[in-house]
Amino acid sequence: MTPSLIVHGGAWSIPPHEVEPHINGCRSAAQTGWEALIKGGSALDAVEAAVRVLEDDPTYDAGRGSVLNADGDIEMDAIIMDGATLNTGAVAAIQRVQHPVSAARLVMRHSEHNLLVGAGAESFARRMGVPVYPQVNLVTERELEKWRAAQAAPPDSARKEFSHDTVGAVARDADGHLAVATSTGGTFNKLPGRVGDSPLIGSGAYADDLSGAASATGWGESLMKIVICKTACDLMARGHDAQTAADAAIKQLGERVNGLGGIIIIDGRGGIGHAHNTPGMAYAKVLPDGQISAGC
Ligand code: ASP
Repeated sequence: MTPSLIVHGGAWSIPPHEVEPHINGCRSAAQTGWEALIKGGSALDAVEAAVRVLEDDPTYDAGRGSVLNADGDIEMDAIIMDGATLNTGAVAAIQRVQHPVSAARLVMRHSEHNLLVGAGAESFARRMGVPVYPQVNLVTERELEKWRAAQAAPPDSARKEFSHDTVGAVARDADGHLAVATSTGGTFNKLPGRVGDSPLIGSGAYADDLSGAASATGWGESLMKIVICKTACDLMARGHDAQTAADAAIKQLGERVNGLGGIIIIDGRGGIGHAHNTPGMAYAKVLPDGQISAGC
């Protein structure tokens, strides 16, 4: 079976000078995930590998480069899900790890739980051998400046900024199994303790070999209200292909909750879909001939 892969690097109004880095980062993540798949790796291996590349890239709001919350701290959310078993691992409001997606996979593999948060997630990751760094290693000058400017601005104006650089990957492997992973620093200037859609099963991600797999990005408070990834998978379970499901899920997001965001999808036949109602969404997908097509 020919594998399939798509990654995203967030849906928002990507400024012109950031378009190229966003596309290049997605391209290199897709390349890494694809190499894992063609070497016979599982869909889970591929989505974890692709998302780690995006977490390492300070362009995105995930891992290094994550946005700061109102206290000036980084709190990250991530999820990984296996479409063959529906097994899921997730972390929320985790600090000081560079690869929240790998911490999420460890939760899936080595705990009885689906989701660990905050200090408990960090200490579990540490026990599992995940390197834990001082926060300063994850903070970029760009985000620090943005946060300082927000502190100096009148109270309401800072919260209006909309930048959604969450990352995600969806894959189908040679055995036909699906997997998904999503990782984020959340929304800029969020309240400490805020958890968005990204680590929530069905909202930030969903994968089921019997229907399809999806990763979402955008305004989390709206995405979670329509459980967007499960909604898209339910459409595929009823026979819709990936692109139709993507379009319908984004339409519902806008019409039902006035939400903003984007989604990437692979259906059970390996078909790829993506849609967004934001001005842009960075993505890269591998075409049937192995070429990578990327855009914003
Ligand atoms: N969905 C993420 C959140 O609300 C943000 C994003 O997609 O960039 O936490």
